[in-house]
Amino acid sequence: MHTDALTTILGDGIVQIRLPMTGNPMRHINGYLVAEPDGYTLIDCGWKADDVLAALHAGLAEAGAELSAVKRIVVTHMHFDHYGLAGTLRRAGVPDLLLHPLDFEFASRILTDPKEADRISDQWLGENGLAVEWTEDESEHHRLNELTEPTRFVQDAERIGRLVVVFTPGHTPGHICLIDTQSGKMFTGDHVLDPVTPHVGIWSSHRANPLGDYIASLEKVGALGATGVLPAHGEPFPDLQRRVDELLAHEMTRERQVVEALGGAPLSAADVARSLPWTRRNRHFTELNAMHQQFAVAETIAHLEHLRAGGRAERTSAEGIFRFALTGSV
Ligand SMILES: [Zn+2]
Ligand SMILES: [Zn+2]
Repeated sequence: MHTDALTTILGDGIVQIRLPMTGNPMRHINGYLVAEPDGYTLIDCGWKADDVLAALHAGLAEAGAELSAVKRIVVTHMHFDHYGLAGTLRRAGVPDLLLHPLDFEFASRILTDPKEADRISDQWLGENGLAVEWTEDESEHHRLNELTEPTRFVQDAERIGRLVVVFTPGHTPGHICLIDTQSGKMFTGDHVLDPVTPHVGIWSSHRANPLGDYIASLEKVGALGATGVLPAHGEPFPDLQRRVDELLAHEMTRERQVVEALGGAPLSAADVARSLPWTRRNRHFTELNAMHQQFAVAETIAHLEHLRAGGRAERTSAEGIFRFALTGSV
């Protein structure tokens, strides 16, 4: 189902508000209003831009509410499209902002000095075989984000009104999903999307094995038996287990391709990425634009580090470039 309506009343006191991502192929992020006895919880709030704020006000009006009815914002993770507007909304009087501490730490690392964070990730991609020239474009997303201190840190299994936190690291270090105890549905943030495959990449030396975390988090939510999925992008869909199985199968296929690519001499992550098919259209690496090449290499590093964490690949460093090879125990 494709729709451009601003809001959809989903029943069980849940309203989906499509907040614009102007100029981005994702088109929308879903903010979800969840009715509580004291007002609303808003799950994810869009990036920091006037058209997003206007859409949120209009969406609230369609739901018969105004911003003063929003008592708390729960952010699934620190990415700009989920968290960027939170500071604006706090200044506009929303009392509470809830986030996992690991994502606040991650946000602090990146957003305290975004230029330096970009420099670190460019250098990291360089060490993985992809020469990156810094462009103004690259930092665009930082301008749509804002480091905002939560009023409350949340942990796995914690209760927020009718919602229960499910810690699902991988896409980011402190990503959370939320189970609604009233409807049995799960808000999955960017952890489970359909048909998009969530990005899991390594953009600096600070992350160890996010793909291993991501796979474990997929298995975790798959086992919870939610009866409906309310994702941050795209439309709600019924069958969580089906989509979890597809995503797990996709990661396995990807892993086989990476292992095949690693058959011979040690390769950098960029070398491996150049031999893999990309996007749902199986494009060659060279057909991707500069930004997507960076995402592709970051994802490939995540796969290589996952193999390394399992003892199936090893990494060496020569002339400032990391190279990976199979250990023979595949
Ligand atoms: Zn995200
Ligand atoms: Zn997102």
